[in-house]
Amino acid sequence: MKMLWCWRCQLEMPMLDEAEWAEVMAAHNRSVAKPQSGVTQRHQPAPAVGRGAEVSAPAYAARFIDVLDAYERITGFRETNPAAIWHHRVAQYGPPCAACGKPLRTPRARMCAACGASRTEASPPAA
Ligand SMILES: [Zn+2]
Ligand SMILES: [Zn+2]
Repeated sequence: MKMLWCWRCQLEMPMLDEAEWAEVMAAHNRSVAKPQSGVTQRHQPAPAVGRGAEVSAPAYAARFIDVLDAYERITGFRETNPAAIWHHRVAQYGPPCAACGKPLRTPRARMCAACGASRTEASPPAA
């Protein structure tokens, strides 16, 4: 777990490394497999967290309580919105900006979206 600036939350958030991410995904798969009482539900992908879009369906949070629990166990941080966890993964971000320290928005970013500094590494991986 690593505290990283989250571009979507506009906050430093606990981000999961790949091993931790796998644990949370396992919890997610268990949640998806759980039978839903009284609801006929096909498998539905997690609602995308768009710009400023807040997904706050209590039923959704209740369904993915295992995911929230796993995230809390790992990070010590009680997240209430399962959808927020999908983007709290270290591997989705680039290395920290040499100028301002915020993580580059993607692993392939060529410049920092926060301060405009160009990436200092020799060359970003080819797309
Ligand atoms: Zn976030
Ligand atoms: Zn920067």
